[in-house]
Formats: sequence, structure tokens, C-alpha cells
Amino acid sequence: MLIHKIRPQGYCKGVVNALNKTLLIRKENPQEDIYLLNMLVHNKQVMDYLLSLGIKLINGDKIQALSNIHKGIIITSAHGTPSHILDYIKERKLTLIDTTCYHVQANMDIIINKLKEKKIIYLGVKGHPEAEATLSISDNIFLIENIKDLEKLNKEINYAFISQTTISLLQIKEITNYITNNFKNVEIINGQCQATYLRQKAVLDIKEEYDLIIVVGDENSSNGLKLFQLAKNKGNAIYISSYKQLNETIKTLNKIAITSAASTPAYLVEQVINYLKGEEIKELNLI
Ligand code: SF4
Repeated sequence: MLIHKIRPQGYCKGVVNALNKTLLIRKENPQEDIYLLNMLVHNKQVMDYLLSLGIKLINGDKIQALSNIHKGIIITSAHGTPSHILDYIKERKLTLIDTTCYHVQANMDIIINKLKEKKIIYLGVKGHPEAEATLSISDNIFLIENIKDLEKLNKEINYAFISQTTISLLQIKEITNYITNNFKNVEIINGQCQATYLRQKAVLDIKEEYDLIIVVGDENSSNGLKLFQLAKNKGNAIYISSYKQLNETIKTLNKIAITSAASTPAYLVEQVINYLKGEEIKELNLI
């Protein structure tokens, strides 16, 4: 069987930064209670590892949960945090470690600047932490997920358009085409991060035919799911979080390509390859 690893894939700089910061905080503060405000990154195996170090995940209503914490270190996720929650942590004088990825922060800074003169059309995923953090900036940011949402907006006023960092290239193209043809005055800003762009472009650029493209990612990973959408345009594709979801019939295929989300540890991909080759499954380092 020929197995092609699509490159680049796996951890982006934002994930590495968030993980390194969190592990260092754990190491330097062995006695402190440490809390993650959300999934640090969207990967279950990474989260299980962090929880195994005694780090706690805050579930449910953040403000209510924080009101019951009197001492400890609060770590935000790489995807950003709504401003009212950051303000509350500071107000409560809890120690705050912000791991927001600089691409996410850069997009929010652009939006804050553009809001001085226009409203914002924001292409994002409803309920995703990055979208929630961005929408918390102002009521003049309109979240859209598709063209139907765009149709509800006043087309005569001035806007800037920007997307969440992990949106699909094809979706951005579809939406910007619609905006250009139907709205009067919209400044188009590229919001996709470099890591997402390069991983998606590598899938879009696939020239050879494969029996199957495997995308390894977590069910919560926005960039992983977008990679999967693009992979499906190229032929047969599956989205898995672990080699354990595969079965023996896959070993009858001749050509397989494999890629992974920006929050997928490399060892999960190696395990998939071990499985496909009939090798012993190695437990590798998460970081
Ligand atoms: S996918 Fe992009 S925006 Fe998200 S953490 Fe990685 S580099 Fe940052």
C-alpha cells in the first residue's frame, strides 16, 4: 500500500504556544489549582493528557463557575475568550494566563479598528469559542454562516468582511463572490490564518487519485472539519479521531493520503500509519 502524508499537517504555532504555556505553568506551580476556561485546543487526547496532570476544565456557565473560584490560575484557550469573561477574571483578581493565538488576536484587533467607521460581516461557526470571543467585541458584528444569512443584511451600508481563522477557502470564495456582486460597499479582509491556508491548499492541490483520503482530527476541530470538506471534493474521504475507528477492510486499498487538523498530535497520525501497515501501534509523545 502507498501511503502519502500530505504536508504541512498537524500542530500549528498557535497550538504549540498554548500547550507549551500550559505545561510550563503546571510545572512551575505544582501546588496551585489550574483551570482551563475551555478546551485549550480542540483535541480530546490533548485534553485528556492535560486533565491527567490535575488541570481542571471549567464546564457550563463560565461566570458562575468563576464566581466559585477564589484562588488559582485561569488559562484561556487558543481560540480567544469573550471580553466580559476576561474582565470578570481580572475583577476577581484571579491569575490569568491568556493563550489566545496571535492570529485570532490580530483579527480581533483589525475588527476593533474597522468598527470605527463601518460594520462587520463575520463569517464564522456559531457557538465556536473564536466566534463567541469576536462577537463579544460589538453588536455591530454580524455573524454569517452562509449566503442565506447574508441576504438578511442591509446591502446599502458600509461593511468590512472578515472570516474566522479556520474557515474553508472555498466557502470564503463563495461568500466573497456573493458580497462583491450584491453589496454596495464592502472591504474584503483575509481572516484565514496561515496554518489553515497552507493545510487546506495542500489538500486542494492534490493531483493524484487516491482510493481514500484520511483526515485525522477531533469532532470539535473547526479546521479539521473544514479540511475534511475539502478532502471530500477530491474523492473518497473519512474523518477519524483515532486509528481505532478503522477496520481491516481498509488494508485492501492501494493508495491512501493522510492529513490532520492543526490540533492533532503527530503520534495519532503515526498510529494510523502503523495500523495501515499492519505494524505494532506505538504510543508516542503527545507534545
Ligand atoms: S489554527 Fe490558526 S488561528 Fe487556530 S491556533 Fe492554529 S494558527 Fe492560531
